[in-house]
Amino acid sequence: MENRSKLVDIEMLGSEVGNVGPSIGEKERICWGCGLRLLLPSNAHVFKCGWCGAITNERLLGHDHGGLWWRRWRDRCFVFIVCSFMSLIICAGVWSVCPVIFSISNFWGIFHSGITLILAVTTFTTYSRAAFRCAGTQPDVQWGSYPLVGRGDLEDFTFCSSCSKAKSPRTHHCRSCGMCILDMDHHCPFIGNCVGAANHRPFIGFLISTIVSTIYVAVMCGYAGLHTWPRLKLLNGVSLRNASAFHVIREIFLATLSSAFLMSTQDIVLVYLIIASISVQIGLVVLLWQQLLFIYKGQTYLSSLSLNGGDGAKESDCRNILSFFGCPNAFSRYLSISRKRHKW
Ligand SMILES: [Zn+2]
Ligand SMILES: [Zn+2]
Ligand SMILES: [Zn+2]
Repeated sequence: MENRSKLVDIEMLGSEVGNVGPSIGEKERICWGCGLRLLLPSNAHVFKCGWCGAITNERLLGHDHGGLWWRRWRDRCFVFIVCSFMSLIICAGVWSVCPVIFSISNFWGIFHSGITLILAVTTFTTYSRAAFRCAGTQPDVQWGSYPLVGRGDLEDFTFCSSCSKAKSPRTHHCRSCGMCILDMDHHCPFIGNCVGAANHRPFIGFLISTIVSTIYVAVMCGYAGLHTWPRLKLLNGVSLRNASAFHVIREIFLATLSSAFLMSTQDIVLVYLIIASISVQIGLVVLLWQQLLFIYKGQTYLSSLSLNGGDGAKESDCRNILSFFGCPNAFSRYLSISRKRHKW
């Protein structure tokens, strides 16, 4: 958007103009969108075609982004680590919590196993849908030839030299995915994929499912820990009857610390699960809150960066969130909201 101020918006000159030739101080350029010749000030590097509306930025043309293989390799490592971590939490949770719950009651043991299974399946399903499906590509549009490209057909389109394709204002090129993504929010290394028009909903579903799962893990591990933690013994047989509150807290803390040396492997795993799940939970709650805020405003993270320039109308509305989650075909409904803000 910053480049918009530098644009030289000119009128379409027509193909016959080639016979006239540029005057002093002007230079002839070809519009990548419609193929027409344009006369521009010689120092113009960013310009907009008066016929098709395509924007040309000569500084970006032919710029090739390297390092794609390295980013793909990094993303696959992240996906492997995240999948291993989720499997570890599930297996460790089942191993350390289930025996305790079953020892209390078979009914609650089966109930707990059912909830664990549902949360695990939901988390892995939403993760797979966010990570392994294409994040969204824009439909192919015709470009490059004057009779085929009509007036305003490529309004504010730019050219992606990496994909060799026309790129709409709603589309961004992702260097990690090596392709243009429609309604790109951000590239998430933890899913090894972009978050875009086609997988935004599964991504939000994954965040919600993981937050609910980690809350459940923390609560159940805490509950199991209360049953398996070694009994507290007050040091030196101190009496707490007439002690101050500070004294009581200090003695309980010291007793807990000394009993920690008697912890079994199961207790150590429970403590690890509580710390790990709460840490993950805090990070994901912040991310989910930020994502819901953008959806409420009808924006993506990337579009919010450009809208901060001041020319984008923000329509904050709860209907944006309802449309995002509302029906099986929410993808197309989400797009219809976005179209209020952007033209193709
Ligand atoms: Zn043009
Ligand atoms: Zn591209
Ligand atoms: Zn990407």
